[in-house]
Amino acid sequence: MPLDISLPRAVKEILDVLTDAGFEAFIVGGCVRDSILGRTPGDWDITTSAKPQQVKELFRRTVDTGIKHGTVTVMVGKTGYEVTTYRIDGAYEDGRHPDSVTFTPDLGEDLRRRDFTINAMAWHPDRGLVDLFGGMEDLRRGMIRCVGQADSRFEEDALRMMRAVRFAAQLSFRIEENTAAAVRKNAPSLQRISAERIHAELAKLLLSSHPDYIRDACDLRLTAVFLPEYDLMRGAGTEEETLRCLKSIEPDQALRMAALLSSFEEDDKACAALAGRICRRLKMDNHTRGRIMQILTFRSLPLQSDERGVRKQLSLAGQEYYDDLLRLQRARVMGYRPADEAAQLSWIDEKEDLYRKIIREGQPFSIRQLAVTGSDLMEQGMEKGPRIGRTLQRLLNLVIEDPSMNSKEKLLAEAFAPDSGPGLL
Ligand code: ATP
Ligand code: MG
Repeated sequence: MPLDISLPRAVKEILDVLTDAGFEAFIVGGCVRDSILGRTPGDWDITTSAKPQQVKELFRRTVDTGIKHGTVTVMVGKTGYEVTTYRIDGAYEDGRHPDSVTFTPDLGEDLRRRDFTINAMAWHPDRGLVDLFGGMEDLRRGMIRCVGQADSRFEEDALRMMRAVRFAAQLSFRIEENTAAAVRKNAPSLQRISAERIHAELAKLLLSSHPDYIRDACDLRLTAVFLPEYDLMRGAGTEEETLRCLKSIEPDQALRMAALLSSFEEDDKACAALAGRICRRLKMDNHTRGRIMQILTFRSLPLQSDERGVRKQLSLAGQEYYDDLLRLQRARVMGYRPADEAAQLSWIDEKEDLYRKIIREGQPFSIRQLAVTGSDLMEQGMEKGPRIGRTLQRLLNLVIEDPSMNSKEKLLAEAFAPDSGPGLL
């Protein structure tokens, strides 16, 4: 039966406009692969024999996103579709960027420059599937295989080695033997790739349904380049536990990274500091790095069994982190499988119930939740300045001890009580 792919209307229209103008046009790459696998494509890329200028003339709204490389983004409503001219990549002098690109009228040449067979198929509703390198067969067998000679493909562009592992993890595929051998051989050249691009692939790997495939990145000598701490951890004998922990935590970037890094150091503070250095080295954004460090700093915080204790910890760690913390603690139990695993997990569940109850009931644990504000204090005559902040913190401490104190009347009385001391924590 011929392959049928259901195209979004806008994509069908773009193909029609190009074809009606006498050009060839196909959907290509990830969207073909994902459609065949029954997965939802992230984006729809189109490859065409039309030159960029010709594409621009055919569509009303276009953006020159990568015109040098032949890519024009066609806007339909608020969505952009990348339309790229058939091209051959020139030599990769630096293992990173092709030095030049040449346009070609031949779809086959465009497919040949692509990284893996499963990413090198094109499809058109009337012309069907163009699969010159056995991509369909590799999809069926679950194989990541380079188009052409694996060795020279990785020499051309070292990032492809990370992509091989990332696609394997996303699709639950295996890396074909020749391709794997070529990664092992070329792994050291990954150091030529920028930290940002390596991190982008690592993040996709960790967020996939097989974050544990980072083990393959280690087997293939890739972590030795971008995360040598992983190899040390493996040497220390805690890889199984780390991978189980990683698989047990939600697919969130900071959580997955924290789970991975949490077994690199025993001591919480040292672990958070090491994580900070690694995240910087990987050029991760500051927000995510901060979150990872916060989660790791508090990772052994003993969870409290009474509401007052939980309120105190929430005020210390922050609500967002408390949530993260519960998740990391649970994943670590699942990773390290202590003899009393079930008991420890249900203990964490109980603490989570308690925490949810506090949130649900709006029990106060942050200054924002106080029944008085800084302006209330000033209205009552307190001078602007550090005393306001100190007073609010003191009132918060009172309210954390006893939520029934959280009324404007009671707090104002407390704020101006004659024996109200220096108001420090
Ligand atoms: P994703 O779902 O992650 O977007 P994708 O297959 O669409 O997967 P992209 O990085 O968006 O991956 O690239 C689109 C296509 O361009 C790929 O399917 C592949 O054909 C080609 N490609 C991308 N990067 C490379 C590369 N480094 N070397 C060779 N071909 C590449
Ligand atoms: Mg894509």
